[in-house]
Amino acid sequence: MQANTHAGKNRRYWTIISPVISVEEALEKVLSYVAVLGPEEKPILDCLGQVLAEDVYSTIDVPPLDNSAMDGFAVKAEDTGGAGEPSPKLFTVVDEVAAGSLASREVEPGTAIRIMTGAPLPQGADTIVRFEDTDEVVRKSSGGDVSQIGVLRQVEKGLNVRCKGEDIARGALILRKETVLRSSETGVLASLGYSTALVIRRPIVSVLATGDELVNIGQPLPPGKIYNSNSYSIAAQIRHYGGLPKILGIGRDSVCSLNEKLDEGMDSDMLITSGGVSRGDYDVVKDVLAERGEIALWTVCMKPGKPSAFGVIMNGERQILHLGLPGNPVSSMVTFEQFARPAILKMMGKKNLAKPCVQAVIEDDVTNTDGRRIFARVRVTKHGEQYHAYLTGPQGSGILTSMARANGLAIIPEDTEGVKAGDMVKVQMLDWSEDLILGE
Ligand code: AMP
Ligand code: MG
Repeated sequence: MQANTHAGKNRRYWTIISPVISVEEALEKVLSYVAVLGPEEKPILDCLGQVLAEDVYSTIDVPPLDNSAMDGFAVKAEDTGGAGEPSPKLFTVVDEVAAGSLASREVEPGTAIRIMTGAPLPQGADTIVRFEDTDEVVRKSSGGDVSQIGVLRQVEKGLNVRCKGEDIARGALILRKETVLRSSETGVLASLGYSTALVIRRPIVSVLATGDELVNIGQPLPPGKIYNSNSYSIAAQIRHYGGLPKILGIGRDSVCSLNEKLDEGMDSDMLITSGGVSRGDYDVVKDVLAERGEIALWTVCMKPGKPSAFGVIMNGERQILHLGLPGNPVSSMVTFEQFARPAILKMMGKKNLAKPCVQAVIEDDVTNTDGRRIFARVRVTKHGEQYHAYLTGPQGSGILTSMARANGLAIIPEDTEGVKAGDMVKVQMLDWSEDLILGE
């Protein structure tokens, strides 16, 4: 490792130029700089995908009262003793109760209260007899008296009664700290009456595109220029993984322009730059970033991907993690997946940082000429029980449409000369959530 202090220029910055490192080494280094962020309290619906920052206990019983699991009649079970089709037991119907209201009478021996599903069990009753187990329907259809009903079978005490607290008991631990809130956990919180939750906050991630050739979207395209697509693919990736992107716009290849943009990103938890970190050229991006903190230039053993940069920027005492992604649009997206994505997930308190993978039969040859790990853009489909991966087209690092057609990145190991059609490969599934726990 070589430290370059730019001697003679009287600068306090430093740049480290590292040898070629593996994807795993690079990820380990990035993650060693990432800490889990602090908590925030928010409306439960805004917490989707975030991680609980505290254990959640129930302050109520669910259901809050004993209630009926069926439409029928609330009775005392012992009063049904000896009931049968030939010899129904007669009950006087003294009241009717629907879900949401309380009966105004008690059930006494020989009486019944007509009750709907979800309605609280009336005082004195211990059992619900379903309509089907009474002669009410027959009485109604023959225009008979329904102030009395006949129960057609003997029932056990507690039948069709949902007991207070049977789902959730007051005081019970319901959701553990570190649980990822999905739709069902959101429902559980709502069922307990919680309108807000304490969750690990989302990271603010600033995105700075660099290059004199870049033009903002929505503007005419002058000759020699290209649209800034990276800011948008990166911001979309940040949002996809739960972060809050802050687009800083385009930094020109000048110290003044870049510093101005970086000032706007000082409130963020992470800064992502795209472009301008090639090792060979003397790009100002490296110099400016080094002057504000520390930067290491990496050649990660991957394709597409090199070169990239990593470091920290100081905002007073606070360190902001900086990832410098390569400018080529596919390289930027693929390196984001490998390094920025896990960093964001870790900041959000997620434990499962690995991309869900499948084993698939690759249907095209891929040649590995320079001993780097290839992330090949593929479309994975399943035939029967077997996954198959097809290259989505030309694999140049500027060809973003083949990334758009892909749903996975097939990994061709660095220590092979490639794969032949029919070989098995491991494929990172781009749109599968890390929150899934899947075998391979
Ligand atoms: P660089 O890493 O700055 O040398 O850029 C490598 C390639 O990526 C060049 O062809 C750039 O024009 C292109 N590029 C850099 N930044 C962007 C961007 N924000 N959007 C689209 N292409 C870019
Ligand atoms: Mg550039």
